[in-house]
Amino acid sequence: MRIESDIKLDFKDVLIRPKRSTLNSRNEVDVHRTFRFLHTGTEWTGFPLIAANMDVTGTISMARALGRFGALTALHKHYPERALVDFFASEDGAHAFYSIGTTEADFAKLAQVRKRTTIKHLCLDVANGYSEKFLDTVKRARDDSPDAIIMAGNVVTGDMTEALILAGADIVKIGIGPGSVCTTRKVTGVGYPQLSAIIECADAAHGLKGQVCADGGCTAPGDVAKAFGAGADFVMLGGMLAGHDECDGEIRYEERNGEKVPVGMTFYGMSSETAMKKYAGGVAHYRAAEGKTVETPYRGPVENTMGEILGGVRSMMTYIGATQLKEVSKRTTFVRVTAQTNDIFGG
Ligand code: 5GP
Repeated sequence: MRIESDIKLDFKDVLIRPKRSTLNSRNEVDVHRTFRFLHTGTEWTGFPLIAANMDVTGTISMARALGRFGALTALHKHYPERALVDFFASEDGAHAFYSIGTTEADFAKLAQVRKRTTIKHLCLDVANGYSEKFLDTVKRARDDSPDAIIMAGNVVTGDMTEALILAGADIVKIGIGPGSVCTTRKVTGVGYPQLSAIIECADAAHGLKGQVCADGGCTAPGDVAKAFGAGADFVMLGGMLAGHDECDGEIRYEERNGEKVPVGMTFYGMSSETAMKKYAGGVAHYRAAEGKTVETPYRGPVENTMGEILGGVRSMMTYIGATQLKEVSKRTTFVRVTAQTNDIFGG
């Protein structure tokens, strides 16, 4: 047994220190980024936010709505072939990732879809990206799809980030345990504080000209800002995008003044009992029973929440004097705080 005694931090453990700047308004900042991907050599420009490939948030409606903000959606992997072909053949398909797991059935379905349309972005994820078999799957996906931008994960350390990039991933997805409906930390005791994971994995990925996507643990726009500050190229959101019209989920209504109004919506982890039951036997290997089901408040159209996230990121950029999103991590100094301080300031 060994103990690593370096301090590892979560979003709640830091704030971003303001810096002198000549920027006067949020309108002077550019929240878009352009990336050239390592394996494909292709470019992408947009607001680097990705809706999680979960049943509730990884929907076609979400991809259409976020596409208008230049953001992306990783579709969940349970859409039927025909729906996927129609969607990826449409203009909105450019704003989405096709998600696959590691089974033969996943690869066979992808091959069928690809016979009829082009898939530009692939998201290949498993709960634990540390197995040799997963590296082989990433290599296979790269051989299979030489022109697709591949995002693969999840891992939390620099060594495995490098391994995945060398195996063929353009973007490595970072996060084990931080998700809002994830119970991995509780059930298994395994995990890694998310802010430190992003810092360490971004450093490893950038050294090889790869990118990272910070996945999980953002509970407010300030956490998205901190993820970019830590070096995340992309940020993936589940819980923050749940509860909207564009989600797939059961809405709960309440009677108010004789009217039925929507008040809440179900949101569940992809390895929760809810997901297990839905895909009886189909999902058990994907996430090993480490998720829960919650009700989120109903929040109307997702454009409201996107406005808040964009507003938060823009404002952070003016506080630290970053004109462009790509300057943010260079201009970020985190100050360590107690969790209580963060609460007082609405963190
Ligand atoms: P959130 O933004 O809600 O904090 O985190 C979203 C992320 O949680 C997803 O992108 C995924 O990586 C992770 N996740 C989704 N469902 C589950 C689950 O059932 N168990 C675990 N351990 N993680 C999950």
